[in-house]
Amino acid sequence: MKVYADNAATTYMSKTARDKLIECIDEFNGNPNSLHSDGQRTQEELDRARAIVAGCINAAKPNEIYFTSGGSEADNQALLSAARGLAGKGKKHLITLNIEHHAILHTMAKLEKEGFEVTYLKPQANGIVDVKDVEDAIREDTALVSIMFANNEMGAIQPIPEIGKVCKAKGVLFHTDAVQAAAHVPIDVQAMNIDMLSMSGHKFHGPKGVGVLYARNGIRLVNVIEGGAQERGKRAGTVNVPGIASMAAALKEGCDNMEENKSKVRALRDRLIKGLSDIPYSQLNGDPVKRLPGNVNYSFEGVEGESLLLHLDMYGIECSSGSACTSESLEPSHVLTGMGVPVEAAHGSLRFSLDIDNTEEQIDYVIEKVHAVVERYRSMSPYWEDLMTGKRQHCIAE
Ligand SMILES: *Cc1c(COP(=O)(O)O)cnc(C)c1O
Repeated sequence: MKVYADNAATTYMSKTARDKLIECIDEFNGNPNSLHSDGQRTQEELDRARAIVAGCINAAKPNEIYFTSGGSEADNQALLSAARGLAGKGKKHLITLNIEHHAILHTMAKLEKEGFEVTYLKPQANGIVDVKDVEDAIREDTALVSIMFANNEMGAIQPIPEIGKVCKAKGVLFHTDAVQAAAHVPIDVQAMNIDMLSMSGHKFHGPKGVGVLYARNGIRLVNVIEGGAQERGKRAGTVNVPGIASMAAALKEGCDNMEENKSKVRALRDRLIKGLSDIPYSQLNGDPVKRLPGNVNYSFEGVEGESLLLHLDMYGIECSSGSACTSESLEPSHVLTGMGVPVEAAHGSLRFSLDIDNTEEQIDYVIEKVHAVVERYRSMSPYWEDLMTGKRQHCIAE
């Protein structure tokens, strides 16, 4: 059986998104900046896509939507804009979480080298930041708070409306990386007091290489890509209208069917969590309730996530592990360790990210195979033997 359970890494394109992409390649292949009919027809298609995206997140105006090459570019542009825009006013402090995506963390590191000061807040044990911690971290010279909507590894959903409220009251800009949340959980940038927000097409069944930066009117964006005057002069380069229209169609499809999809995927998620819960010395990472509908992140003591993943792949199950294999070392996930999961447990973690195409039959197959694979690797692991004979202490309860 083949089971694709890595939708947080990327999704397959939906039929709606594919059809739209092909329609646009055939029908709207002009350069929207051209004044002739082909160009103008393409410009109209781009306008329609912008209005659709604005509607999906309740932006006040379509011109608050800027199309980018993806979530990473949108994150970079949001942070650089806030920092460079407010540095002149003496605001050189930024706040974020230590469990953010590297598009945020690496941009923050770059700004630190330029002389900005960054506070990296640590979430609670369930992966969710305490709003009080955000409030307490805000200073006179704080330019921006950037806190992700939902985490890509362990699925915890942050208290975005509450953080938005605090930022608004303190007069600080608020950006959220909503790449994992868009089309999966409701987003209302006005009601939630979000000033800037990032999205990416390929995380909600749209194409890769297309994303969105929402920036409330009045926020001055700086260019990451210099050149022509596309996207109101804020993002140069001939606009990828087919990709954008396809992404907009995917976003709208996800938002229109959100409630139905959410309850279906959540039921699959909870079936998988329940099925894994009888494996001894294992734990669910991230809040069990305030989490993305499709996310299951589990740690199994005494085994390597990487080995489990490769073995599951042989059974046709595609998921992800918390560690990123680098040349010298096997680094455990900065997200899991950042929320206080012990390094040993973080090493033995797997992420399953489910979506509407998954079935109960597939979940039951995954449960069976994970049991088998964990047992097999534990039976061969000297580390596990040390745990069993009491030479080492357990870091997860039985
Ligand atoms: C995937 C992802 C990104 C990067 O998006 P790309 O479109 O692949 O550049 C950023 N943030 C989060 C939380 C993500 O999951």
